[in-house]
Amino acid sequence: MTKVKIANYINGKLVEPLSGSYLDNYEPATGRVYSLIPDSGEADVNLAAKAAKAAFPLWGELSANQRSKYLSAISDKINEKLEILAEAESRDNGKPVWLAREVDIPRARDNFSFFATAIRHFDSESHYTRKGVINYTLRKPIGVAGCISPWNLPLYLFTWKIAPALAAGNTVVAKPSEVTPMTAYLLSEICMEVGLPAGVLNIVHGLGRDAGNAIVLHEDIKMISFTGGTETGAHIASVAAPMFKKLSLELGGKNPNIIFDDCNFEKALETTMRSSFRNQGQICLCGSRIYVQKGIYEKFKKAFVDRTDRMIVGNPKDDRSEMGAIVSQQHFEKILSYIALAKEEGGTVLTGGQAVKLDGEHSEGWFIRPTIIEGLDSSCRTNQEEIFGPVVTIQPFETEEEVTAYANSTGYGLAATLWTENLTRAHRMADQVQSGIIWINCWLLRDLRTPFGGMKNSGVGREGGWEALRFFTEPKNVCIDYSE
Ligand code: NAD
Repeated sequence: MTKVKIANYINGKLVEPLSGSYLDNYEPATGRVYSLIPDSGEADVNLAAKAAKAAFPLWGELSANQRSKYLSAISDKINEKLEILAEAESRDNGKPVWLAREVDIPRARDNFSFFATAIRHFDSESHYTRKGVINYTLRKPIGVAGCISPWNLPLYLFTWKIAPALAAGNTVVAKPSEVTPMTAYLLSEICMEVGLPAGVLNIVHGLGRDAGNAIVLHEDIKMISFTGGTETGAHIASVAAPMFKKLSLELGGKNPNIIFDDCNFEKALETTMRSSFRNQGQICLCGSRIYVQKGIYEKFKKAFVDRTDRMIVGNPKDDRSEMGAIVSQQHFEKILSYIALAKEEGGTVLTGGQAVKLDGEHSEGWFIRPTIIEGLDSSCRTNQEEIFGPVVTIQPFETEEEVTAYANSTGYGLAATLWTENLTRAHRMADQVQSGIIWINCWLLRDLRTPFGGMKNSGVGREGGWEALRFFTEPKNVCIDYSE
């Protein structure tokens, strides 16, 4: 089988890595290598940063409407190629094709169309300070932005950074995860097809410790927008902060899903199935700690376990598969090691708890049954550390105070879900739970205008809407005294 050779996209062209060396790209559903990824390093990043720096003056001075047209053209092309991109994303990541078709790729398209229009309505402030004095704030693009993204929602999160950076007038050096590079590569072809000026977006593939680190260290890359693990984020901050780079860090989570006795049972159950296992549980916003109030605990547990037992884990190309493969062998082993840890910590596996062996070409793929674990307290490692897979714990609680303490007991604070029909309790809890996003009686409903991001170890800064456009611009305050 010939393997597709992915190329870097630098200065408007597809180019090989300067070293000439490549990394293997695996298809999680078969466990086989199916393409090759440029193993880029500092020299490639230098070329990309040089191209981005050279392109900045022209791009930054285009009107918002002119930039908007390019972004809209990219969005339209993504839409045109939706099926190709969905299949590529599924093959690279292991997720079902239907999920990439319904969620990932439409969202990548919408990221571009959202910021294409947002930038046309973005404004800055002016203040009439007193008679004869006004202040106004200029918001100008900064220069070259570095965008680094993870593997779980590959094109979705990659474009969530790139689109606002470009819309605001910056040029970009971006690196997708080396685990899922294919749709970023297809995006470079799209940029060429729509005639995006050379150097405006540069995509460098490779490992985090090489290409990623070189982006963070490069002195011409003035801001870093990063999504990934908390440990990587801490490392990036330690490198970038002394260089006074602007930093946005979207990191890990260990999200509570809190279900009160008075919830809409069927809706809570159906959504909990998704918030636990969608994308093989590999969404930073998945609820991995499920707290159910005592009055409905047994009933909820039984229904949840029954439905989970029936979930189909299978070939990602088959529309009947509710879950596909885990993204990599390394991650597959990490998840299984956490299931073993949960047992050591005294947990009982109610369903799942093991790898799944499929037939035929998928016999070497990395599949895990959706897993529910009971009998652990909030302080154990299983309930404190991010597993990032189809593994959830379930635990009863009695009072609001008790569950708030459980919810806030981890170092993370990304997202939380509350299920209750009691309006005042919902607001009270939303106020008390330490989390950047609180969903009440829903999950993963996103309005792209709202600030997105986490508290505590889940990150610094916010993405989305005006927050993103503010991050990617530098405010300059101008004060005029026009009195005589
Ligand atoms: P990761 O931190 O291993 O890698 C993320 C990206 O950083 C990759 O592109 C990687 O190559 C790069 N990288 C690694 N080391 C680097 C370094 N030293 N310098 C620069 N770049 C480096 O994370 P991952 O395993 O790809 O993704 C999973 C993590 O991402 C989970 O913790 C998940 O919660 C988190 N995540 C967070 C959000 C959010 O919005 N908060 C969204 C999705 C995923």
